[in-house]
Amino acid sequence: MELKLYNTMTQQKEVFKPIKPGKVGLYVCGITAYDFSHIGHGRATVPFDVLVRFLKYLGYEVTYVRNFTDVDDKIITRAEKNNEEPLELSKRFCNEFLVDMDALQCLRPTEQPRVSDHMDDIINMIQKIIENGYGYAVEGGDVFFSVDKSPNYGKLSGQRLEHTRAGERVAVDSRKRNPADFALWKAVKPKEPSWESPWGQGRPGWHIECSAMSARYLSPRFDIHGGGADLIFPHHENELAQTCAACEHGGVNYWLHNGHLTINDEKMAKSKGNFKTIRDITESYHPLALRHFLISAHYRSPLSFSPSKLDSSSELLYYVFQTLQDLDDALLPYQEAMSEDGGKAEPTAEAKDIITKLKSEFDAKMLDDLNTAHILEGAYKDALKFINDSIGKLKKMQKTQRMSLLVSLVEIEKAAKTVLEVLGFTTTLSYTEILKEMRQKALTRAKLSEEELSKIIEERTMARKNKEFKKSDDIRAQLTVKGIALMDVGKETEWRPCVPLVPA
Ligand SMILES: [Zn+2]
Repeated sequence: MELKLYNTMTQQKEVFKPIKPGKVGLYVCGITAYDFSHIGHGRATVPFDVLVRFLKYLGYEVTYVRNFTDVDDKIITRAEKNNEEPLELSKRFCNEFLVDMDALQCLRPTEQPRVSDHMDDIINMIQKIIENGYGYAVEGGDVFFSVDKSPNYGKLSGQRLEHTRAGERVAVDSRKRNPADFALWKAVKPKEPSWESPWGQGRPGWHIECSAMSARYLSPRFDIHGGGADLIFPHHENELAQTCAACEHGGVNYWLHNGHLTINDEKMAKSKGNFKTIRDITESYHPLALRHFLISAHYRSPLSFSPSKLDSSSELLYYVFQTLQDLDDALLPYQEAMSEDGGKAEPTAEAKDIITKLKSEFDAKMLDDLNTAHILEGAYKDALKFINDSIGKLKKMQKTQRMSLLVSLVEIEKAAKTVLEVLGFTTTLSYTEILKEMRQKALTRAKLSEEELSKIIEERTMARKNKEFKKSDDIRAQLTVKGIALMDVGKETEWRPCVPLVPA
């Protein structure tokens, strides 16, 4: 199975070949920790979590490194506003980020280095860059990278040097040899955290941390580097220039960049003030529904946010978990019979076909540059439909026929579950518990308590008994508007979350 990945450097899909057979080194730029993370950060982490899971599914051993920027202007500014130590503030929000990532079922990276813990690595790398003639210290204790010395500078982003004048809007620092030169080390300013260095007290420039930490935990040349498309320039361009300047064979084989999350056609960003935090969303939507939404478009495409998309993701996942739960319930009475059969029965030809289609569609999409769009649809939905259609038939069947269907259902469930695992939709909770959580979120969205809903359902039952059908229909319709669908099962009325119906 050949995995193809779109490489920003070559601007084409390439067959992935690891440096060391069977192993993958992956570095993804993490957050600057000064506030709660918004769902744009989820867009930058969930697809790479899917990549890690898929690489493991393909049999690779993955070393996944994602950094925390805990020394930065934004952190210093926010800390001063809060009257808090910058490192304390960033530590707090690193922890909050991890809470969000756990909720979104993102696997913890192998390493999560922080800038403040890696000053030696950073200073050593800057020294190498200077020794190799690519960096220069200036009066006042700053150190700059000399872009003119780097022949490939601009290759990743496609930026020409004359267009990359950093500080065009602000006065150019006259100590720079080229206006596009960028800081490797910044001399200390009052009230800022600082560290000792050969150039005096100061702190690193932003880009050097990722060069130093990727080299430290992977190697100066490694397989895959990921991050948001907004990082291509200047961050990744500079990172690459630094690594290559410090280490002869430094570099990255595949550069992967995710598209932005947009809201009303604008990029969602803290600086624009149009963002929603992960916490905002998971108050009323299940984190798995948010996860589904975040991979509902190809990772390179822009993804536009809307609550209705979250509703659709919720409904789809609810259907998936409900189907698998119903299947488990249906299989329960036959456990003994199945173990007595001891695997002699074979799945039906139809079931084998369903499994083959499910697996091949999943593999084909994922191997094609991780195309997660509509991933739980198509063959996956066909498999779920087969499960739903079969459950009712089990009881009516003859023993031998039934055994074949039971084995079919077990095998289909196994295949369906593997897909869920690779996509990160399974948790330590049972289907029943996840469904319960999802119903709870639906009640939150509907602004109803469980008791209130029970009362409304009772009222409708009474209306039906009294043959007041207009009233009972109205009650049902009002609930559908709130995202709650009623189902009459025999004499009982059950409910499940649904996409809220827009009133006519
Ligand atoms: Zn970075």
